[in-house]
Amino acid sequence: MPDPEKPPPYSMYEWLRSHDTRLSAHPLIETSSELSGILCAIVAGIHPDEWEIRDIVRDNTKFQQFPSFLMPHPLAEFFQSRVYIEPLTSEYLTALSFRDLRKITIVRNGRNLDHYAGEIPDAILRFHLEIKRVVGLGEKNEHTQTAFAQLKQNLIIFFEIKSTSPYGHEFHLGRKVDLNRECSVPSTAKTWDDVLRPTTRDEVRDLYVFLKNNPELRALFLFHEDLEFTGHDPIDVNIGRQGGFYFYDTFGNVADDRDKDLVAELKEKLLSEVHSAGFTLMNGSDDPDDPDLNNSVDQGYIAAEVQNDAGEFVDENSFEVAAVKLGRLGITKVRRAFVFEIPGKATLEEKKILYDIITRVFMEPFLARTHSAEEVHAV
Ligand SMILES: [Zn+2]
Repeated sequence: MPDPEKPPPYSMYEWLRSHDTRLSAHPLIETSSELSGILCAIVAGIHPDEWEIRDIVRDNTKFQQFPSFLMPHPLAEFFQSRVYIEPLTSEYLTALSFRDLRKITIVRNGRNLDHYAGEIPDAILRFHLEIKRVVGLGEKNEHTQTAFAQLKQNLIIFFEIKSTSPYGHEFHLGRKVDLNRECSVPSTAKTWDDVLRPTTRDEVRDLYVFLKNNPELRALFLFHEDLEFTGHDPIDVNIGRQGGFYFYDTFGNVADDRDKDLVAELKEKLLSEVHSAGFTLMNGSDDPDDPDLNNSVDQGYIAAEVQNDAGEFVDENSFEVAAVKLGRLGITKVRRAFVFEIPGKATLEEKKILYDIITRVFMEPFLARTHSAEEVHAV
């Protein structure tokens, strides 16, 4: 068994620290005016490798009066990856089976990355057995099986080997984390304390505290990049999908949706202007391989209801769903989140053009017209 006095040998966190890399993405909250009366906010950079649109948002002066939540990307630079990393606990390790792994990344001496997908070479399998021996793992039990079932979906293992020998004993294990799948809000929550108490991940807590500190927010504008697309994408005949620009309209329930007409009007204008500027619009499934997604996209638009007619919340842990769900639970006043998916392979110039269209044709009129409605809030 591992010596309880010694730190575990598989702490990716320690390793990251020793390489001057942060596990937490300390947020950059930018605002130039008093927060209490602000009705909307801008969020960008939740996925660390989508920094071009984040920088465009940051450098734009048009919306500087609104609080912006901008995530930095030190890990993305280091790992060339879209995810955060956390150490694997021995509990997870106990339940590991290589048949269930999607991908293994081996980091040698803190740099060279070797990726193995699909077939796992014999050497890696033996290495896995060696890890089990070293960390002294016991029998599988029901608890670890459950933990593993939850983990499996996005399971990617990192090994860091300090010696040049693949059987060296100094290694670290970690799993990748998609921050935009980690924002679970208990459906029974009534107060911020109910939400924050079970939240252990720093970055998620930062996002929630951002909402908590801006209690008048009604709408969020979130910027992402879909790294698959150029914005001039052909139709994929195999899955019957057209790639391109699209956005999620995340709201409570259609029955009490008072922004419905306004959003429908602005959506038409936005998508027709994006199309006229020469970009394709996505049509089909947003991501057939992601069980959390696989939403149907209709010519660049996804209506994403958070609560069904029976009052049940969708089982999705993205930040946009969490934010609107918090509004439905009465913990915030947020009732809508727009998630714009900029084609990641578009040029920087094209991304700027798209951002300009979104702000001019969609955000500004949305704000002007919701500000002029009954909810004008005097600071
Ligand atoms: Zn993203």
